[in-house]
Amino acid sequence: MKIRQLRFALQSLAFLLCAASTLHAQGRIVEPADIIVVHGRVYTEDPKQPWAQAVAIYRGKIVAVGDDAVIERMRGMGTKVINAGGKLVLPGFVDCHIHFIDGSFSLGRVNLEGAKDPSEIQKWLREYAAEHPGDDWILGRGWNYAMFGPEALPHKKYLDELFPNRPVFLEGYDGHTYWANSKALAMAGIVRETADPPNGAIVRDPKTGEATGALKEAAQELVAKIVPKPTRADQLLALRAGMKWANAHGVTRVHSAGGDFEVLDLFDEMRHRGDLTVRMYVAYFLNPPELRPQDIRAIEHARKKYHDDWIDAGAVKFMVDGVIESHTAAMLEPYSDDPSLQGKLFWEPDKYKSAVAELDKRGLQLFTHAIGDYGVRTALDAYEEAEARNHKRDRRPRIEHIETITTSDIPRFGKLGVIASMQPLHSYPDADTLDVWARNAGPDRASRAWAWKSIADAGGRLAFGSDWPVVTLNPWEGVQTAVTRQTSEGEPEAGFVPEQRLTVAQVIEGYTLGAAFAGRREKLEGSLEVGKLADLIILWQNIFDVEPRKIGATKVVTTIVGGRIVYQADTK
Ligand SMILES: [Zn+2]
Repeated sequence: MKIRQLRFALQSLAFLLCAASTLHAQGRIVEPADIIVVHGRVYTEDPKQPWAQAVAIYRGKIVAVGDDAVIERMRGMGTKVINAGGKLVLPGFVDCHIHFIDGSFSLGRVNLEGAKDPSEIQKWLREYAAEHPGDDWILGRGWNYAMFGPEALPHKKYLDELFPNRPVFLEGYDGHTYWANSKALAMAGIVRETADPPNGAIVRDPKTGEATGALKEAAQELVAKIVPKPTRADQLLALRAGMKWANAHGVTRVHSAGGDFEVLDLFDEMRHRGDLTVRMYVAYFLNPPELRPQDIRAIEHARKKYHDDWIDAGAVKFMVDGVIESHTAAMLEPYSDDPSLQGKLFWEPDKYKSAVAELDKRGLQLFTHAIGDYGVRTALDAYEEAEARNHKRDRRPRIEHIETITTSDIPRFGKLGVIASMQPLHSYPDADTLDVWARNAGPDRASRAWAWKSIADAGGRLAFGSDWPVVTLNPWEGVQTAVTRQTSEGEPEAGFVPEQRLTVAQVIEGYTLGAAFAGRREKLEGSLEVGKLADLIILWQNIFDVEPRKIGATKVVTTIVGGRIVYQADTK
């Protein structure tokens, strides 16, 4: 009896093995899946089948999505089975606006995010310096404007007290203003007579004319250029840490808005070593005053070399203005707190428009950083003119940030097919936003702060990102902010411009299918559908069910990119 049972079992096994090699899925004969994810609550972003239980992956692509029973049939001898245990499964998250190598380096530098006042910054710097002794540069980032009183700008005196002989150079959280100590200013040769560079300002003491240590916009380059450059090995080390960090937060693709074009070959090297675990869409950062032949050569060369699922260099980024906190964003009307200031465009409008038209004609995708309402209007005008000049086609130009907008420009996103690429966490209503940003913008413009819902309701497509290292790349804090328009403590009680709140589903779309659309990749990415790339994540908590204020605490269990498990949380 025992032997008969054994024989039966062996026969069944042989039959299964046989069957496994000729499985049928979606009418096609396929090999058994490499990976199946089962017992999940799979939110697909596919309107034909919004929810499923399981997903099968073969050679880096999704080959089936459906019920557990259907997917179980695709299991063969070598299939890895991931039991999602009822957890939420989503398409991999895309960060549509990032500075990846800068963010990667920030992981190893002093992080001043969340510091409440200059004395807390001094404490953290003292600790960091103790852990990193010597005379090397102290580099870091993340301080905010609100802690420096009404002028909202840092001063070198706080740094000089601690570091009279060691250069210190600290980027503001938004990347638009830097803070140097006297030693760094001296090493850079900045003296009273040093002129402001174009598109930048050395902030000076009104009485003495001496540099205060705050350097706005392009003025930071005076110091940045003398900071020792990291070696190639340092860069690779930082990028590997950055990729791990991104995967651990559920990010599977990024759209780089600057700083990464110069290191495309490093991403390529990582690919050959098997270390590239985040898909890279990389824009060339085009500086004013104009588009030059050498820019076009660099852009075309990179695009020819890199245009696959992992590394793609088909975009160009412009920056037409600065930020509201330092009055450098270009506004249609003067700033509310100081009517002598209105911000100005970094580009001469005609030169910007002709560069847009030329690059658009070449089929490149265009990103324009525009934060003030005049900046946003200028970008919309340029895209409209490019379409008139180069005729209608599927171009999907983008505007990045859009922190405020005039009412009549809101419907132009939908009408012109311009994508609104926005960063939810920038609207986080802390003191920086409510005291500095809103004070500078004034109540009327602040009533249209980060108006993503108005843009979406008028037919515009949204794409979300972080602008890391400006804020954390952790997208869950962004999801929470877009849904609540409140701080984690629930402030302000009524929400900051609460009519712009989005649903959880709308925000997920902005980080997945909307993001894929914004990168011209929606045929292969952004949803869990047969034929798409197998980029997906499993989360600890179901963000559709938890209290909105808790979404930011979401942890990722598993991240899969191209059918490879690139992150697995330690569950022990
Ligand atoms: Zn940026």
